[in-house]
Amino acid sequence: MDIKSIEKVVSLSKRRGFIFQSSEIYGGLASTWDYGPLGVEMKNNIKNLWWQDIVTSRRNVVGMDAAILMHPEVWKASGHVQNFHDLKVDCKNCKARYRVDHIDLSKPCVRCGKTDWTEPRQFNLMLKTSLGATADSDEVTYLRPETAQGIFVNFNNVVNTARQKLPFGIAQLGKAFRNEITTGNFLFRTREFEQMEMEFFIYAEDAKEQLEYWSQERLNWYKKLGVREDKLRLRPHDKNELAHYSTACYDIEYEFPFGWSELEGIADRGTYDLDQHNKFAKKKQIYFDQVNNQHFVPTVIEVSAGVDRAFLTCLVDAYREEEVNGEQRVVLKLSPKVAPITVAVFPLVKKDELPEIAEKIFTEIQTEYSAFFDIGGSIGKRYRRQDEAGTPFGITVDHQTLEDNTVTLRDRDTMEQVRIPADKTLSELKKRLQNA
Ligand code: ATP
Repeated sequence: MDIKSIEKVVSLSKRRGFIFQSSEIYGGLASTWDYGPLGVEMKNNIKNLWWQDIVTSRRNVVGMDAAILMHPEVWKASGHVQNFHDLKVDCKNCKARYRVDHIDLSKPCVRCGKTDWTEPRQFNLMLKTSLGATADSDEVTYLRPETAQGIFVNFNNVVNTARQKLPFGIAQLGKAFRNEITTGNFLFRTREFEQMEMEFFIYAEDAKEQLEYWSQERLNWYKKLGVREDKLRLRPHDKNELAHYSTACYDIEYEFPFGWSELEGIADRGTYDLDQHNKFAKKKQIYFDQVNNQHFVPTVIEVSAGVDRAFLTCLVDAYREEEVNGEQRVVLKLSPKVAPITVAVFPLVKKDELPEIAEKIFTEIQTEYSAFFDIGGSIGKRYRRQDEAGTPFGITVDHQTLEDNTVTLRDRDTMEQVRIPADKTLSELKKRLQNA
C-alpha cells in the first residue's frame, strides 16, 4: 500500500458509512471524525475485544469509568500543566507546522523545499475549558489528555472495594483530548480520541518481567484482531526517548502507508504517578501489604492504546484491490471478530416468496450474529457492497431454494459459493466462525 492509498481508505470509509468528517455540512472541523453506522459497530467490537482480553478474562484486573472532567490540581500533580508540551517549528515560507521530533531541521521543508524555520516553540497540548456560568479563571479546568489519571486518583477506592492484592490491574476505556498542533493521517492523530488503558500495580522487583509479559500480551492482541504479523513490531525506546520517571518502555508499531507508527505504549512508570498525587492531594494513595505487613507505593506497568489507531490499523490492514473477471473488486478482509456485519442475507429477487424465506433465515441469524438484510439491486452489486463493508459471509435465497430447500453461502475472501440446507444456515455459520 503506498502513501496515496490512505486516501482510498478515507474514501471507502465515507462511501460505506464507517467514518464521516465531523460537521461536514459546515465545511468540517479539522482532525475530528464521526463514526457512522458501520464504524460504530466495528469500534464497539474492538473495544469489547480489549475489555474481554484485559478485564473479563482475568481474575486480577478490574475496570472503572472515571469522569472526563477532573479537579485541575490533578493535572498539576501529574505533570501535564508543566510538561505536556510539544516543541513546534513553522516553515516561514509556506507556514507548515511540524513537531520538532518529527523532522530534521537541517533539511528543507518537505512541503515547499525551503529551509527557513522559526525558533522552536512550546505548545501545551491540554484543551482548556471553564466550569460554571462565568468564564472566570478560577474555574478553568481541562478535558483529560489521558484516561490514566482517573485510575491513579481512585487507587485507594478500588483497592478498598475490589479486594485485590498485588499484582493487580485497573483498566479504563474512554475519551481523551489533546490540542494536537500537527494533525492529519486520517484517524491517526486527532484532537478527540479514545484510549484503552490499564495500570498494573506490582512489586518493584517484578517490573522487568511484567513489562516483558504485558508487551507480548499486547502485541498478541493485535494479531488476534487479524492484523498481519509482518506489519507489527515491538520497539524498545532508546534511553533519550524515555520520560524522566520511566526506566523502560516499548511501543507497538504498525507499518502504515505513511511509515511505522505507534499504536500503543507499554511503560514502566515506577511509582511516579501515585507519588505525585501523594505530594499534591489531601488523601494519600498507599497500599498495605498484608504479606510483609507494611505500607508502600506500588510500581506500575502501564499499557496505553488508542481505539482509533487500532481501528485505522484494522481498516488499512484489511484493504485490498483485486481483479475479478477483468473488473476491480475492493474488499476489506477484516477478521469476523472485528467486521461490523458478520452475515448479509439476500433474496435473489423481490418476488416468488424469496424475501419471506430470506427474512426468516435473517431473523434466526440475528439472534447470534450481527446481520444485514439487503433486497435491492443486482446480486453482483449487493455482493460488492458487502465486500467493501468487510462482511465475511453472504447467504442468498434463490429459486433453487424453493425446490430443494438449500441456500447459497458465499465466502467473502475466496468468493466461493456452496449450497447448504436452509435450516442448517446458523449451525454452518457457527462452524465456520468458530475457527475464524
Ligand atoms: P504520539 O507520540 O503519537 O503523539 P504519545 O506517545 O503522545 O503518541 P501516549 O501519550 O503514549 O501517546 O498515548 C497512548 C496512546 O493513545 C497512543 O499510543 C495512541 O494510540 C493514542 N493517542 C495518543 N494521542 C492520540 C491522538 N492525538 N489521536 C489518536 N490517538 C492518540
